This record gives sequence, C-alpha cells and structure tokens, in this order.
Amino acid sequence: MIRGIEKRIIIVGAGPIGLYCAYLLKKNNPSIYVSIFEKNSDSGENISCGGLISKDGFNNSFLSKILDPKDFVINNLGAVKIYSPYKFFLDINSKKDMAYVIDRDKFDKILRDLAKSVGVEINYNCIVEKIYSNNLEYKDLKTSIKKEIYFDVLVGADGPNSIVRKSIPFNYDNSENIHAYQVLAEGNFNSKKVFIYLGAPSKSFFSWIIPINKNLAKIGVGSILGQNPKEVFSSFISKRNILFTKIVSESSGIIPISKPFKNYVFKNKIIIGDSAFFVKATTGGGINFGLLSCEYAQKAIYDFLKYKKPLSNYNILISKLLKELKLHYKIKKYIFSKTDPELEDFIIKLKSIDLDKFLEKKGNMDYPSLFFTKLFLKPKIFKLFPEIIKFFKSS
Ligand SMILES: Cc1cc2nc3c(=O)[nH]c(=O)nc-3n(C[C@H](O)[C@H](O)[C@H](O)COP(=O)(O)OP(=O)(O)OC[C@H]3O[C@@H](n4cnc5c(N)ncnc54)[C@H](O)[C@@H]3O)c2cc1C
Repeated sequence: MIRGIEKRIIIVGAGPIGLYCAYLLKKNNPSIYVSIFEKNSDSGENISCGGLISKDGFNNSFLSKILDPKDFVINNLGAVKIYSPYKFFLDINSKKDMAYVIDRDKFDKILRDLAKSVGVEINYNCIVEKIYSNNLEYKDLKTSIKKEIYFDVLVGADGPNSIVRKSIPFNYDNSENIHAYQVLAEGNFNSKKVFIYLGAPSKSFFSWIIPINKNLAKIGVGSILGQNPKEVFSSFISKRNILFTKIVSESSGIIPISKPFKNYVFKNKIIIGDSAFFVKATTGGGINFGLLSCEYAQKAIYDFLKYKKPLSNYNILISKLLKELKLHYKIKKYIFSKTDPELEDFIIKLKSIDLDKFLEKKGNMDYPSLFFTKLFLKPKIFKLFPEIIKFFKSS
C-alpha cells in the first residue's frame, strides 16, 4: 500500500467488537485498508463470558439482520430469580423469551469469518506494544520480530486493559472494575431460568447461574479488585449450597466498570467496546452495547475519511448509548453500595410493590430509561424510597 493513496485503519483486538467494527468499515468502504492486530492465535478461543444478551438489544443492531441466531444461540431465557443476601427473592417470569445465551466461541468465529469475507486482514499472534501519533509497534509472537506500521485511524477494541486507551491522554478510573470467575459445570439445573445472588461473598456485584441446558450451566461470581475471585467462588458455592457434579472448565476475566466519560476520541484514535467501558454496570454485559458502538464508530470514521468531518462526532453519535450506560452506572451505585442488611430490606420493599410482576411486563435488560419512567409513575416507590429522586438526579 502506498501512503496517501489508500487510507489505512488499524484495529487492535479481534474480539467480537473489533471484528464487527472491521467488517462494517471494510464493507461500507471497500477501498480502505482495514487491518486487525490480535495477540491470540485465533478469535473465539476459551472466552470467559456468560454469553447472556438481551434479545431486543441484539435485534437493535444491524448485525441481527445478517446473522442467523440459530448458528450461535444455545439457549433462550425469559425468567430470572434474584435472591436477596439472606432469604427473600424476586421471581421474574416473562411470558416471552427475553434473552439469548450465545456460544461466544462460535459467535466470535462467525464474526471473524464475516470480517475476512469482505477483505479485512487479521494478523493473529501479533501484540501491539507501543503507540505513537500515526504509527504503532507490534511484536510477532511467533518470530519475536518487532515491526512498525502506519495508520490513518487507530481503533481500540482491545478490551478492559486497552493499550489504545492508555495511549490517549484522558482521565478514566478503573478502580471499580470487577474481577469475575466463572466455571462451566455439569449438574442438574433449571434450564429456563437465570439465578442471581446478591450480597456476600460477592462485594459490589453479584453471583450467577446461567443455564445452557438442564445438564450444563455457567456458574460465576464477581469480586472487587484485591479479592481472590476463586475464594469468593468457593464461599458462594458453600453459602448458597449450589450443587453440581463436575467442573468442565474454568476461566476468569475483568469486567470494566466506570462512570461514562465525555470523550472517546483523541485526534485519529477512537475506542469501542470494553476498551471504552461500554459495559452495563448493573449486569456486566458488554456485547450488545459494544456492537452498537461499532456502528457509530463506523459512521464517524467514514465521515472523517471521506468528508473530513471531525472524528469526535463519534462522541455525539454515542450519546444515546451513554445515557443508558450512565443510568446503569447510577443503578449499580445505588444498589451495590448497600450493606447486606440494607440489601435485604431493599428486596423486601421491592417485593412489597410487586416489582417482579412489573419487570415481567415492562423490564428491559439494556435500556433502563424505557421502564424507569413507568416505574416512577408508581407512587409507592417514593414512599418506600424517598431518596430515589435525589439520587438519580445527582450527576
Ligand atoms: C466472566 C465474564 C462474564 C461475562 N458475561 C457476559 C454476558 O453474559 N453478557 C455480555 O453481554 N457480556 C458479558 N461479559 C462481557 C463481555 O465478555 C465483553 O463485553 C466482550 O467480550 C467485549 O468484547 P471486546 O471485543 O470489546 O473485548 P474482548 O472480548 O476483551 O477482546 C479484546 C481483544 O483484544 C486483544 N488484545 C488486547 N490487548 C492487545 C494488544 N496489546 N495487542 C493485540 N491484541 C490485544 C485480546 O486478546 C482480545 O482478543 C462477561 C465478561 C466476563 C469477564
């Protein structure tokens, strides 16, 4: 490629978000050069993920128009039981399926093939080590040879510890990140219901069981940085008497949690997906919002290269997404800053106003703003939680 003739976009990270973004960029502008650098030897290998995504949220993305869910969906779920720290629960049984459980390994490989099919170049076994204004240095992990490469636009899709984000001079706080540990276990499970457990031993987050079928489920815990997630898992299993017969595999990973910031662009660099903390703070789910961020990034980059519009238009395009992420963050702060006795009391109060029945009809996993307005129409909410308006109005 001769510099100045073709534009070169480099994406760091061949996770689902980097792959989808690369696909969109190349498909909508075949003359540009789109190249991904990924340190792993392939996409979709031993991913640590519950794979739970909202159906409506996924259907909001353009991707839902080109993929057949049958190729990667391994369970459909409409029910969730949320346990308080001690003895109460909310039981939400929606009449229709609300969520997919997806096979992440398959999903990522499908996206890899989609990106390749339009001409995206994927360089596996290549770790990006240094980033400058218009070029970066990577190491080929097979040969240990280091090389430099030029870019017109650099996209950070390199997950929670993003090197692209670190190369951009803005303030972010990753002290609220969750360290998650999860096993795939055999046993006897309710195949149609997700189970969520609030309170100890999972500080500032929760523990979960996501069924794949009646004999297989993902069992996991979130812990704050500094806790040992495996120890948190053992305490969870014994406290809640969770039964399974065999651990098939185990994994751990970081769920990036942060209050949304104002700027996701610096000059010719842009961040998307987990590297931009586009994860719902209430659930740790990052796939649906990550996919949406690709669509906005694609538009901003296209307009930047073709019409010389500012790349920072991305900040405007993602504003709807940021509004929802901010609400998730506030809900997380409100709920997870409570002590276990306060959480117990909170669940009892929610039960007393039939919140589970309300969520069955109006709940939305991705877009809390859609049901919050309706929830605030319930006068009992203000009697039980007089602090609620003040809390959600605060920035
Ligand atoms: C235990 C756990 C459970 C989860 N459960 C759910 C769930 O149920 N539903 C949901 O929606 N989300 C869930 N998530 C979150 C979800 O996994 C992420 O939001 C999603 O993987 C984000 O995709 P991404 O492409 O942005 O980042 P990643 O999937 O992290 O991909 C980033 C890629 O960049 C590569 N990379 C990083 N640094 C470099 C470098 N310097 N050079 C080259 N390559 C690099 C990495 O190897 C990786 O392949 C869960 C996360 C965890 C940890």
